[in-house]
Amino acid sequence: MRSRIALAVLVAAIACAGCGLDFLALLGTAPRHERRVRVGDATLEVEVSPRNLTVPIDDVVAWVEDAAHVLADYCGCFPIDGLLVRVVSGVPGGVWFGQHWHGDRVGVLVGGATTREDLASDHVLLHELSHTAFPSLHRRHLWMREGLSTYLESVLRVREGVVEPEAVWALWVRAMPRGLPRAGHRGLDFDGGIGRTYWGGALWWLLVDVDVRAQTGGRRSARDVVREACARGADSRQLWTIERALAMADDATETTAPTDRYQQLARRPGAVNLDALWARLGVVSTPDGVTLDDDAPLAHVRRAITASQRAQSAR
Ligand SMILES: [Zn+2]
Repeated sequence: MRSRIALAVLVAAIACAGCGLDFLALLGTAPRHERRVRVGDATLEVEVSPRNLTVPIDDVVAWVEDAAHVLADYCGCFPIDGLLVRVVSGVPGGVWFGQHWHGDRVGVLVGGATTREDLASDHVLLHELSHTAFPSLHRRHLWMREGLSTYLESVLRVREGVVEPEAVWALWVRAMPRGLPRAGHRGLDFDGGIGRTYWGGALWWLLVDVDVRAQTGGRRSARDVVREACARGADSRQLWTIERALAMADDATETTAPTDRYQQLARRPGAVNLDALWARLGVVSTPDGVTLDDDAPLAHVRRAITASQRAQSAR
């Protein structure tokens, strides 16, 4: 019975992605184990409701701690001191999905069959934690926040050496077309829908990252935007206007690429030639995925975007 209720909640949660209801609270009624972890100057409260969980609680807490350190390292600080991270179990399978509530807390639903390897390669928690690293915006700009998390969940994992650059570019080649405008679309600010919101937003961040790196000779990147946000305390508890967020992004990148791409893709349908983008970056599709061409004009930009920090420090 319990598992039937859990599955019903799960189906409802997936059907209502982004609607803001706290489905995890419905599942997280088992006794909670509470831990406190330190990440730089910030403290995270970690709550684990381990019903049916086979992986030890210590491993779950270490997973949260590691993910928080990865984000803090990228942003220059952990965005929210005192953030509550709630890990809820009680369903079958592996890591299911997560939610983020305006910087108040982050929740992740973890199935009972989750393994240590699942946690090590997971992107869900990194996605949700990344939401803390940018101010909240009016709902019509949700794509910018979901796009950032969708972009960073891959960038952070490749940076940590959890996935290979080829796997990330293959995913983006496969998934980014879902973010392109279709007939009747008016721009990211107006369109909505999962594809436009998540992948249209991720494509906006990728294009900004490429533009900024190309225009500044690699001195600046999209990373500077979240570093600036963290330095200013511009986390997801703040509600900002889009103009203020774009001004910060332009400032941090020393370019107008964020505003330019906003005008092109959010206020208008803004066609993007993805084939031309992949060609310039040296991402070549093959039947099995992609190969990476270092002779392409922007190959250095591509390498910088998906550089592994571990490979760099090993050199
Ligand atoms: Zn999200």
